[in-house]
Amino acid sequence: MLCDRFGRRIEYLRISVTDRCNLRCVYCLPATGVRWLPRQEILRFEEIREVVRIGATLGITRVRLTGGEPLIREGLAELVQMLASIPGVEDLSMTTNGVLLAQQAHRLARAGLTRANISLDTLDPDRFRRITRFGTIADVWAGIDAALDAGLFPVKLNVVVMRGVNDDEIVTLGRLTWDRPLHVRFIELMPIGEYFSREKLVPAEEILSRLSALGPLEPVTSPGGCGPARAYAWEGAAGTVGVIGAVTQAFCASCNRLRLTASGRLRPCLDETAAVDLLPAVRPAVDRAQLTGLFRQAVLSKPEQHTMAQREVGTPRFCMAGVGG
Ligand code: SAM
Repeated sequence: MLCDRFGRRIEYLRISVTDRCNLRCVYCLPATGVRWLPRQEILRFEEIREVVRIGATLGITRVRLTGGEPLIREGLAELVQMLASIPGVEDLSMTTNGVLLAQQAHRLARAGLTRANISLDTLDPDRFRRITRFGTIADVWAGIDAALDAGLFPVKLNVVVMRGVNDDEIVTLGRLTWDRPLHVRFIELMPIGEYFSREKLVPAEEILSRLSALGPLEPVTSPGGCGPARAYAWEGAAGTVGVIGAVTQAFCASCNRLRLTASGRLRPCLDETAAVDLLPAVRPAVDRAQLTGLFRQAVLSKPEQHTMAQREVGTPRFCMAGVGG
């Protein structure tokens, strides 16, 4: 079992399968000049499988594939199949921008993917393009439909709320859950990357109160979740809404996760660049004893709390795509 210095049990591993992305969301990546990792530095599927195998022997039960954009990694369903068959892995999910999901959702579900979080910050096609800079919203909707059709459950929509950018859509986005089994999660803008400013941050409490204008919200258990969202539903709604107060309501006390970067570094905290390099334990050959030790080292170096709430500006030269947000 993996337990950190503060008594938190670590059972969730988020894996960035690539740092590359087919979008350039304003709050995540700069428009140009992104320097991707050389391909040979990216962990191969077999290497990721070995890391997860060791993690599973240490008590990791939940795995999420993310990026960058996980769906641009060729043959992702193969990796899903490899990970789904590891004893101890009970839940295998993915966070995606959804652009390429329509073509892959059924294959991924057959391979063992259980659920998906799809990022969608707006319902307006022009605004979508201004936020993501590439891609079309119709492709994301096709991906959402395919995910539901393939039986992935739950299908969650991740909305990063930004004042003056998309906060006027909070209610409309929440309203989606009335008719469709979608679980919309409103995420506070985090001071990671240069886009952040205090004025753009809409606190979780404010998001909730704006949603409440549509009718009384009942607290509910988040489907498929042991995540940080506080979930609610309107009476008779097909889905749920939730808020993730990553900045103003830091959920560090219940943090149960580690993050594996695309190049094989195990990060104890989303907000810190410090990481334990697993590469020497997987290349050229896997050293299971060494990997086990490095897992424990990463867990023991987890900080008690991130410091995002105190920051006025975002961290430069550091973006979520490189971390596996
Ligand atoms: N490409 C995939 C996607 O778009 O969902 C997965 C990677 S993306 C980095 C994972 C999540 O991080 C997305 O839901 C995205 O909206 C969120 N994210 C990125 N930068 C963020 C920021 N500064 N604050 C809050 N959320 C952020």
